[in-house]
Amino acid sequence: ERLAAASAPLTPGTLKDGTLVPLLANLGSPKDAAAAVELGAEGVGLFRTEFLFLDAPYAPDVASQKASYKELLEAFPGKKVVVRALDAGADKPLPFLTDKNEENPALGRRGLRALRHHEEILRDQLTALAQADAETEADLWVMAPMVADLEETVYFVDLARELGIRTAGVMAEVPSLALMADQVLTSADFVSIGTNDLTQYTLAADRMLGTVAAYQDPWHPAVLRLVAQLGAAGKAAGKGVGICGEAASDPILAVVLVGLGATTLSMTPAALADVRAELLGHTLDEARAMAQAALAAPSAAAARAAVASVSSAS
Ligand code: PEP
Ligand code: MG
Repeated sequence: ERLAAASAPLTPGTLKDGTLVPLLANLGSPKDAAAAVELGAEGVGLFRTEFLFLDAPYAPDVASQKASYKELLEAFPGKKVVVRALDAGADKPLPFLTDKNEENPALGRRGLRALRHHEEILRDQLTALAQADAETEADLWVMAPMVADLEETVYFVDLARELGIRTAGVMAEVPSLALMADQVLTSADFVSIGTNDLTQYTLAADRMLGTVAAYQDPWHPAVLRLVAQLGAAGKAAGKGVGICGEAASDPILAVVLVGLGATTLSMTPAALADVRAELLGHTLDEARAMAQAALAAPSAAAARAAVASVSSAS
């Protein structure tokens, strides 16, 4: 009895009306997997692979990458694990991959752009992932960061499939990708919205720069309108639209994002309990009403206030 009570909060993510919203973990190392499982993560929505590459003089080989990916996948048998291809550049420079002389690296050759310039690094990573997948029981999905449009999506998805990845998608971090979501989803199996970069690029405010930190607010209705466009495109295509930026760990905003069409939420494991509890307090119809209130607001602050008044009325 006591045990059952203690594990009660670790139910799958669910709205008040029974709609399932899988709650996934953002992880930066296989070492964090056990703690995420303990906190009720239903899988991994963003596995950042930069740890393998940082502080290295060159990219690790296929065998050593494969060992790390296997360690991760073995912690989630039967569960979805979304791994992101190396996201170097901007706030994560790498001497063998990115150009440190770029004046404006957030707008430079980062993410997929950098990998495409050094395709051998991307090929090795995808090969290591496919080999790890073949020897484990998790449901591996792989996505590319910093993708701008359909042409880049097709490049990544085709290469991933050629190298043995079964489910390949892209992050929505650049506004152009959100605006072209219907086209992108003709190729990608899924999209995952990186609200940190999507906010940075929508508001044109460097997320590393303290002087413009006030712009880095995913409640801004301009960001939410792009999320709505992605959500509608995902629904039309019958494909998943996840959230893996920090916005998913704000419990009320998480409900709004579901109302905008997000199908999964991925966050730092410490945030899972509060988001799980908040979802249980709202039906999908209420979430949609909250989303509409936010979309109609003129600012982030007004969106917060509008959502608060709608949700207290429901
Ligand atoms: C994001 O941009 O929202 C994201 C999840 O990626 P990162 O924070 O690693 O840039
Ligand atoms: Mg990002």
